[in-house]
Amino acid sequence: MTTAGCDLLCIGPHTDDAEIALGGTLAVMAAAGRRTWVADLTAGELASNAEPEERWAEAAEAGRALGLTGRLQLALPDGFVSASDRDQVAAVVWLLRRLRPRWVVSVPEPRRHPDHLATPALVARAAFLARLPALAVQAPQVRWWRAEADGELAERWICEVVATTCLPDQTPAVIVDVSAGWEAKLAALACFRSQFRREAGRRPTHINDPDFLASIEDRARAWGRRAGVTHGEALVTDAVPVVADLLDGGWR
Ligand SMILES: [Zn+2]
Repeated sequence: MTTAGCDLLCIGPHTDDAEIALGGTLAVMAAAGRRTWVADLTAGELASNAEPEERWAEAAEAGRALGLTGRLQLALPDGFVSASDRDQVAAVVWLLRRLRPRWVVSVPEPRRHPDHLATPALVARAAFLARLPALAVQAPQVRWWRAEADGELAERWICEVVATTCLPDQTPAVIVDVSAGWEAKLAALACFRSQFRREAGRRPTHINDPDFLASIEDRARAWGRRAGVTHGEALVTDAVPVVADLLDGGWR
């Protein structure tokens, strides 16, 4: 039987998306010995600031800050991520069969960016198709950080849970207490100097406005208040927790 290759895989369109949306969860789970991976769908070639090489170097640094087991980057077209493009779906099917994650989480924010709107649909379609062995896929162009994932390409793979990070106006299915991982998340975000710092020569953007980092903190504190902890990250999924004892678990 094919076994899981990692415990949690976060898929975002661009480097820094996983850190912004799920960095605390990735850090907390890595510290608990879980195998955490990040996959960036594109090299971010349309970014307002920095070329893909600089962004990849920052992503590697952020990966270390979060204690990731691994990270990789596909070469889907930045700005044109699409769930209806057969080659893009096949690339993500390959990714899921190769990494064999138990949980996969995609990043739907910011909603004004078409790649973020498209990513959850792309991942959901690929997660369904990854379980169909009749669908054969070729290895796409991949850039690995550190080393390739252990194990071989599975003939089929079924993720236990497919989730997205929770938007402010949605009801979370689960809130992760990331208080213990918050420093690591901030350290990871600080690695993306080209994106978050409005230094000389950089174009002003939504995310290098100093208020942006404050908004990340505010969001985490709001989910944390809801959960009775300092900092939280929230997820949405159709999956539900199944328990034999309603008193078993941290319901709030
Ligand atoms: Zn992005």
